[in-house]
Amino acid sequence: MGSMKTFTKSFTQQEAIPEAAIEQAVRVLRSGRLHRYNAEPGETTETELLEQEFAAYMGVPYCLACASGGYAMHIALRSAGLQPGDKVLSNAFTLAPVPGAIHNAGGVPVLVETNDDYTVELDHLRDVAANSDVRFFLLSHMRGHIGDMDAIVGICEANGIVLIEDCAHTMGARWRGRLSGTFGKVACFSTQTYKHINSGEGGLLVTADPELAARAVLYSGSYMMFERHMAAPSADEIANVRLTTPNYSGRMDNLRAAILRPQLQALDEQCVRWNRLYAAVERWLKSAPGVFVPVRAAHEQFVGSSIQFSLLGYSESEMRRFIELCSRRGVQIKWFGDEEPRGYTSRFDSWQYLDGSDDLPGTRQVLSILCDLRLPLTFDEADCDVIGEIITDCVGEIRPVKDLAI
Ligand SMILES: *Cc1c(COP(=O)(O)O)cnc(C)c1O
Repeated sequence: MGSMKTFTKSFTQQEAIPEAAIEQAVRVLRSGRLHRYNAEPGETTETELLEQEFAAYMGVPYCLACASGGYAMHIALRSAGLQPGDKVLSNAFTLAPVPGAIHNAGGVPVLVETNDDYTVELDHLRDVAANSDVRFFLLSHMRGHIGDMDAIVGICEANGIVLIEDCAHTMGARWRGRLSGTFGKVACFSTQTYKHINSGEGGLLVTADPELAARAVLYSGSYMMFERHMAAPSADEIANVRLTTPNYSGRMDNLRAAILRPQLQALDEQCVRWNRLYAAVERWLKSAPGVFVPVRAAHEQFVGSSIQFSLLGYSESEMRRFIELCSRRGVQIKWFGDEEPRGYTSRFDSWQYLDGSDDLPGTRQVLSILCDLRLPLTFDEADCDVIGEIITDCVGEIRPVKDLAI
């Protein structure tokens, strides 16, 4: 029987910015030189250093820091050669900035169905990749779930499709030991407050392709000061595209970069902490009747900064009641099946600026019972135990065990 515990912490409260980052930020503020290209002779700016350090972390030659993750995706698509009207595959289960970035770049999103484990459906991917004149795939590792990357890369290669990874939820994650963000031609990360490192807003683009990197630097608005970059291709490489690439102004500044650099140093440790929280909630969910939590493969070294689960066979009204019961006890569940976009969740059919001609019954079914919880590092394992217990109580209230046909 539930002990009617309630939970009182906030699901949107992140940890404070580390003291070392605050000190560095204050130094930047005192200098007045916040613009990334505003440096004294011989000075290396925080933005330049962040790019160099993130490129080193990722093990790739090129990195560009920019204004947001969505901006990074927009210029990644453009830099990869997208022309207005080009079709771009993407997950149907993703967040609104993803189709938004495709639209912004002039592309036409073509959505791919969703598996029960929340990754893209490979059969549908194979189908749309082979049967339509698609040139790009903006793959979102949505909520940190990493699909079968061997298969996905194989399908892209077989169909001449350029793979672009959206790693907003997989910074620090790996698949078969290889960092998420190194499987495609270019990868985009977000440093927005609810992601794995926090500068309020911000984005990082990484690639091993010199021509793509050159374009991205120019798109971001380099005012031809590209020679300052330390994780960009040579000035010669950039000179080739400098007069044909417009300035889409979207740089990162030194203040944000200063805040991010110490956080990057701590990223791997933070990922371990997230995974402890994830495991603590998962233990409860795995033994709660009617609750499905995907089994994560050993080679999916994900980062559990949020957790997803499905309530098998729940109707819409049961979903609403479950969310209400949890909410009354302080556990704020997000539901990806809601018709109405709420907070960060929205369903593909609410992106009405898209063509929307394809219904996606598989995704609709998956989302109809899909719940989501953020796990900020201001929680500890004891908090996660309380959350797990409350969820278990609430599913028990909606579907008492005696009613379940086992
Ligand atoms: C947050 C997010 C983005 C965009 O990042 P911003 O920095 O907020 O623009 C892209 N994709 C996913 C899946 C996200 O969660």
